[in-house]
Amino acid sequence: MSYFTGLRCVHCGREYNPDEVEYFCPACGYHDGILDAQYDYESLRKVLNHASLAANPDLSMWRYLPLLPVQDESSIPDLHVGWTPLYDAPRLAAELGVALCWVKDEGRNPTASFKDRASAIGVVRALEQRAERITCASTGNAASSLAGFAAAAGIPTTIFVPARAPEAKIAQLLVYGAQVFCVQGTYDEAWELCMQASAEFGWYNRNCAINPYLIEGKKTVTLELIEQCATVTPGSYPDWVVVSVGDGCTIAGAWKGLREMHLLGLLPRLPRLLGVQADGCQPFVTAWRTHTALAPCNADTLADSIAVGHPRNFRKAMDAVLESHGAFVAVSDQEILDSIPLLARKAGVFGEPAGVAGVAGIQRALASGIILRSESVAIIMTGNGLKDIQSAIRSAGRAISIRPEMEEIRNAVGEPIAV
Ligand SMILES: *Cc1c(COP(=O)(O)O)cnc(C)c1O
Ligand SMILES: [Zn+2]
Repeated sequence: MSYFTGLRCVHCGREYNPDEVEYFCPACGYHDGILDAQYDYESLRKVLNHASLAANPDLSMWRYLPLLPVQDESSIPDLHVGWTPLYDAPRLAAELGVALCWVKDEGRNPTASFKDRASAIGVVRALEQRAERITCASTGNAASSLAGFAAAAGIPTTIFVPARAPEAKIAQLLVYGAQVFCVQGTYDEAWELCMQASAEFGWYNRNCAINPYLIEGKKTVTLELIEQCATVTPGSYPDWVVVSVGDGCTIAGAWKGLREMHLLGLLPRLPRLLGVQADGCQPFVTAWRTHTALAPCNADTLADSIAVGHPRNFRKAMDAVLESHGAFVAVSDQEILDSIPLLARKAGVFGEPAGVAGVAGIQRALASGIILRSESVAIIMTGNGLKDIQSAIRSAGRAISIRPEMEEIRNAVGEPIAV
């Protein structure tokens, strides 16, 4: 049973009943009128607590059903999402120079990124609304994730991606049977097209920034993180939660999950958020440093999942970082590339560029005194490295090519050691 009570506009404060509006506040429009799902936390405290969670056999994001805006459980697609591993990574912590470092491997979701948490909810809502088709615009992962969940649920999809999306992500879309428009333009242009097509054809809109339900799926990553800390590192919780930022939905969702765990009495102290962007696309960093409004910019970074020049969830993400007394940092593409083998070799986790950007972000934040060496950090590793093989190869170099002869190996490794 869900304790979802309705939606509240983050701009004007108007409240709506659960089925009164589906996307944004009609009074404020889609730029400002972002809605936030509300729950009856008083009653939730009785059903979500240490004892009930410990006794819950469901090891997926649906273990938090009372905290999700789902009315009809029968519409939940049968594709396992969530309860991804949380690792305590001491060698990575030593390398970075922090007290403790956790890695939450979101690449272990069914379509290999964090976006599955949002798509799962999107598909449930679309089924509840009896939608005939779902659409989204995406830098790649939201698209492949929607395609996967829509396939599991049997709903057709139409997807808009920018031409520069990595090939592996486009291959996923086609394999899952989505109708794919590869837009010869930026993600921002793909986004506008998708919005217009959704309005014109009545397709259900899975764009995270204007669909308030999706972020509710995203928040489950930190509900899990906090619950898992208690077993992975009893008594320790992160001082910082590190998230790479494009549109801003992921970090806003992460913050909502943390606040809810705190509200339910399951997290003693709220961590701070570190939002990580790329040097070539850092609208959040600029606005945060200069205390100014959002100024959309160009998107020039190899980390395609965070190449978002016009973030669509600016307010929620900025508020999250400010409320947490956190910070935004930007890192170079070279630092992002270096982080791919670093994370793989020190923690055994292979991430795509946006997935590992947090590792580079921690190094920047340590160098500038934002994070202290005595503090602990948790990285949300948002996407699997096989999503973008081109960047992986650039980061790790080539294999040693040999003729099939022992002599070649001896030449390469030197004299054998006598045993
Ligand atoms: C989408 C995505 C992000 C950023 O999420 P936003 O909600 O756009 O801020 C980060 N990493 C990966 C792998 C993603 O797919
Ligand atoms: Zn409003």
